[in-house]
Amino acid sequence: MALSGTSYLSGLWPPFSAAVRYLQAYCSYYNLEGSIVSGLRSNQEQTRLYAQGRTPYEVAHQVSKQGAGGSVTDAPAGSSAHNYGLAVDVEGRDQARIIALAAALGFGTVSWDPAHIEWPNWRALLG
Ligand SMILES: [Zn+2]
Repeated sequence: MALSGTSYLSGLWPPFSAAVRYLQAYCSYYNLEGSIVSGLRSNQEQTRLYAQGRTPYEVAHQVSKQGAGGSVTDAPAGSSAHNYGLAVDVEGRDQARIIALAAALGFGTVSWDPAHIEWPNWRALLG
């Protein structure tokens, strides 16, 4: 498969998982190479990632760094689509083309994270 990492689809919201499989089929058709490297994250895992590249002060005050200074994510636990199984991250040779394809298919993307694909307007699902 051209977009590998199917193991990360377990734990995703089933409609989102199905949509990512659809994206995988498109990637195979267009011979795009990439890997899914993240899917569902627990709040504990999100907290660990959020702390990367931040000082304890910055963590406590939820300072947004948008990738600067080695930060990994600007989303504290519970505020990332990953915490709800509504996002995946894609890396690899054709990352930019895969993200552009995902956007064209209707997935949500974010300007500050070139790896990230999410269910569009996912916060509306939380109620
Ligand atoms: Zn992500």
